[in-house]
Amino acid sequence: MSEEFKGKVVLVSGAGSGIGREAALLFARQGAMVFGADLSEKGLSETQELAREAAGTIQAALVDVSKETEVAALIKRIDQEAGRLDAAFNNAGITGGTFRLEDYPTDDFDRVLSVNLRSVFLAMKYELPLLKRSGGGTIVNTASVAALTGPGGMSAYAASKHGVQGLTRVAAMENAAQNIRINAIAPGWTETPMVIANSAQNPAFAELARKAIPAKRGGQPSEIAAAAVWLSSPQSSYVFGQMLVVDGGMTIGG
Ligand code: NAD
Repeated sequence: MSEEFKGKVVLVSGAGSGIGREAALLFARQGAMVFGADLSEKGLSETQELAREAAGTIQAALVDVSKETEVAALIKRIDQEAGRLDAAFNNAGITGGTFRLEDYPTDDFDRVLSVNLRSVFLAMKYELPLLKRSGGGTIVNTASVAALTGPGGMSAYAASKHGVQGLTRVAAMENAAQNIRINAIAPGWTETPMVIANSAQNPAFAELARKAIPAKRGGQPSEIAAAAVWLSSPQSSYVFGQMLVVDGGMTIGG
């Protein structure tokens, strides 16, 4: 494993599960000092345990990414403990319920927008000054194939993820000249614990979904994490403001 991130300080949100956990572990394995943020204390300590097994360390931060005071305090803590920030992966997110738009509970809509979109705005708002003081760096935001499509029943989720792409483009434009690269990833159907649990409840639907993917399988969290880590690394040094779709071909047919 390369030491691409040796000496670098990296923040990963949603590090207590799925894609964020895999990304935190991958950054740690490549030498980074990783701050893993999540709402779930249990999830974070499991990620820390996995990191220890792989001889890395992850600093846990119990944070609700939709709350401004908590995000501000997290960045302040990183500044105090590490003195810099080189890369951020703003990845925490929720799916929300599935309802037709006219039945979508307004409070649920607000909650999904808050956790998926407001969080990315807040994260970048507080990360950017520290990245600038560190001489530049990278941000990767997690969108979804739902940033490209309109999956029925998922108005809040699709709106939030379209918004993530928009915020990513604006932030990339505003900061490209200051040695800060900002991109997004758009995972397709990814077999995180939540998706696996849903598939177990409805195996026929899961089988149909997998068959509809050109690759004929779901993605692994590690495959999405690898794309996020690549976008955070010097390997992608001329990639600015893009959304990298990692979906087994799910959206190639339009
Ligand atoms: P996951 O549920 O396994 O992990 C998400 C993590 O985010 C959890 O640990 C959860 O505790 C944390 N979290 C939720 N709300 C939070 C909050 N307010 N503050 C801090 N942490 C919070 O899900 P995942 O599949 O790994 O999802 C990661 C990202 O990928 C999300 O943004 C999701 O929308 C996106 N995504 C996932 C898929 C998929 O198929 N799994 C597809 C497209 C996009």
